[in-house]
Amino acid sequence: MRNKLWGRCLVVLAALWGVAAPAQAQSFAQGTFDPTIPTLTETVGHAPGTRITSPDQTYAYLKALVAAAPDRTRMVQYASTWEGRPLYYVILSSPDNIARLDAIRADLANIAAGRASNGAALPVTWLAYGVHGNEISSTDAALMTAYHLLAAQGDARADKIMRETIVVIDPMQNPDGRARFVNNFLAASGIDPAADRQAAEHDEPWPSGRVNHYMFDLNRDWFTLSQPETRGKVAAIRSWNPVVVVDLHEMGGDESYFFSPAAQPFSPNLTQAQIRAYELIGRANAAAFDAMGEPYFTREVYDLFYPGYGDTWNAHQGAIGSTYEQASARGLVFERRDGTELTYADGVRNHFTTSLATAGAVADNPQRFLSDFAQYRAANANGAAGRGTYLIDLSKRRWNAESLGRRLAAQGITVLRREGPASACGKSFPQGYLAVPQAQPAARLVKSLLDRDTPLPPDFLEEQERRRSQDLPHELYDVTAWSVGLMAGTDVTLCNAAATGDALAAETPIAPLNEGSGAFAIAVPWTDSGQARLVTLALRDGIKGRVTDKAFTSGGNTFPRGTVVFPAGDNSPENMARLAMLAREVGAHTVALASGWVDSGPNLGSESFVRLSLPRVAIAWDDGISQLSAGAMRYVLERRLGLPVTPIRTQRLARADLSEYDVLLVPEGDPSAILGEGGQRTIRDFVRKGGVLVAVGDSLETFSGGDSPMLAVKREAALGRDPGAGGDDAEAGLAEALEIATDAEYREAIKDEKALPDTLPGALLNVVAQRDHFLSAGYDDGGVVLATGTQIFTPLDRADGVNVLRFAAPGNLIASGYVWDENRRQLAYKPYLMAQRQGRGLVIGFAHDPSTRAYLDGLDLLIANAVLVAPSRVR
Ligand SMILES: [Zn+2]
Repeated sequence: MRNKLWGRCLVVLAALWGVAAPAQAQSFAQGTFDPTIPTLTETVGHAPGTRITSPDQTYAYLKALVAAAPDRTRMVQYASTWEGRPLYYVILSSPDNIARLDAIRADLANIAAGRASNGAALPVTWLAYGVHGNEISSTDAALMTAYHLLAAQGDARADKIMRETIVVIDPMQNPDGRARFVNNFLAASGIDPAADRQAAEHDEPWPSGRVNHYMFDLNRDWFTLSQPETRGKVAAIRSWNPVVVVDLHEMGGDESYFFSPAAQPFSPNLTQAQIRAYELIGRANAAAFDAMGEPYFTREVYDLFYPGYGDTWNAHQGAIGSTYEQASARGLVFERRDGTELTYADGVRNHFTTSLATAGAVADNPQRFLSDFAQYRAANANGAAGRGTYLIDLSKRRWNAESLGRRLAAQGITVLRREGPASACGKSFPQGYLAVPQAQPAARLVKSLLDRDTPLPPDFLEEQERRRSQDLPHELYDVTAWSVGLMAGTDVTLCNAAATGDALAAETPIAPLNEGSGAFAIAVPWTDSGQARLVTLALRDGIKGRVTDKAFTSGGNTFPRGTVVFPAGDNSPENMARLAMLAREVGAHTVALASGWVDSGPNLGSESFVRLSLPRVAIAWDDGISQLSAGAMRYVLERRLGLPVTPIRTQRLARADLSEYDVLLVPEGDPSAILGEGGQRTIRDFVRKGGVLVAVGDSLETFSGGDSPMLAVKREAALGRDPGAGGDDAEAGLAEALEIATDAEYREAIKDEKALPDTLPGALLNVVAQRDHFLSAGYDDGGVVLATGTQIFTPLDRADGVNVLRFAAPGNLIASGYVWDENRRQLAYKPYLMAQRQGRGLVIGFAHDPSTRAYLDGLDLLIANAVLVAPSRVR
């Protein structure tokens, strides 16, 4: 296997360069190589491109390279994964540059702050590989790039890169995912690598190596920072202020190679200078590929719009941020549809080629890249992107607002915190505010995240509407809305007031808020994510609480419905002290009550208060379930709220003993075929006996079909279609005569009567609460949700259940983003959150996932209502 492939690799090399590679050379470029720099073969036992280098082998080789060239390298651990694997970056430059690395870094920080350079700075090219762990060739390319820069002798380009620039290589952004891929690949492999794409070694089991431990797409997480890999990476990049950032990926095996310039749409927050620099780098990559005779494409598919991508986020910091994509062999050899074979070595070589070409482009133009970056940061600091201030109200979803402020600070954004009552912008802020000035070096990232809307380019939109009118699919790659203030459920105002307050640091703990006095009970108002986390942690520690479904007032304080009260009479003094400690740790809001007497609303002994106990939660896992949805839901429950979740594989659910659980969560997906009748029966029994079923997104359909659906809703076809059409006349054999006189009539004649609504790429929409239901506690004023895809459900009728949250009226529906007009009209008034009693239990349906990417933290209370509170209410 090894000889055969290395032979293939050598053939490639020989064909490329017209020479046989010398024994020592393990680069994909010609030359002589320093024998004191260890090769991959010497260190881990295989040559580049002949095996998929595992995470452990990657670490071993990086350490060997750094040990062999201590004067030209630095290796830094920047994070650890959920599964305990380290993440490293390696700095490469000439001995002179490495010797003055601290001075270079300090001057780069000067420039990034919008100040003048002292002349010490050099441009940093940041090359990041393998963010998707099953996009395998990039990590091996990272190792070869590092080897080449250290070992190549007499290579003028490598010398120039080391002399004129700093190269930072992050070889493996998602080691947990890569380990998963490599393990699955090795477990399925046999005597020879299989080229057949159907072979198990190319066909990963659930979950794929693309995602990290909590099954997040790390290339969507850059501004959410929910995952440790992203938090560490963002801090590392901020500390180096690179001028160029490349994120190297893989795409389908039948493609060729993609590099920037990117496709439309571009974010309006890019500058003309940036767009010119993309062209310069693109031409350098093109020249390298032309020399190899390799095909490539630019300006298609991969856009620069959503700021959670590695390319766009870094572009909003002033770097030239790019995505490169290599066709994936998803193994060692892959037969393409055109009959040719793609090898792993091909992919490694191509990513190696663009890595060096891109670093070379920076080395050829070091002053241009540095001064473009300096001008970008200084102009923003001087107000080029605006001079207003975003004010985030700390009296609404306080914990989420504080948490958002820290996330922004972690991205290098200046956030000021004004404590206590204040007024600004003609508004009063009874608990103060966070102020984010527009005039700062990262202004365009600030705008992109905090503006309510980031408009799509009008000509791009026009083209998409034209495509839709021709029944062609639209070309939007991701969501059109991500306004972080809306997603956190906070209130953000942009005005011209000057920003005042103390600088907020990302690490500053959220301060607890303690009010009231007395020893009768501690009340936890149901107002934000921190409150839900405190209640969950308290229940886990055995502290006894009661939850109300009606608002009450006591001692001059108003407590919204959903408030949880922990009476001293139900708890030991130790438990009450433990509760106070947890509240401090979380930074939660608690109110001490002196008496059970209330001024209005139910007394604590009323039946409106029910005993709240920690639910036992299972989540449907594995085939038939979306790994992104399952991972995000589990992450929000476990890591944000603190509630442990037990995954049960869909294949086992038919024979599972669900009596061990209070809640079964079924994330997005289509599990019906795998559940089968047995699984449906098990779940129905579970609910009838008092269980809570929470179904999300298209999984709702699994429970809404048949003669006696568990949730009596139906999915709707597109507007103007009639899914029942044609049924009655089927026996006649002849079709009704039809005269077609116009283009419009022709389109009408060929339309698909069963077509679903056009896919919504993703927009933030307003929902309205049915205020009497416990599931909407915390949402009396409605909320903002993310809607994506094609699913629109009919409302539950009164006899069947409650539409707890429904989409707002058409004129008030859109909070942010672009929505096709038919979607807007059809979604209005349709259910978002539904509840239907079944026997002694309850079925809860979310039409769209509230946990997507863990970035809708404004919906955490809704998730807590459905998972944490519902079992106690149902009993
Ligand atoms: Zn990728």
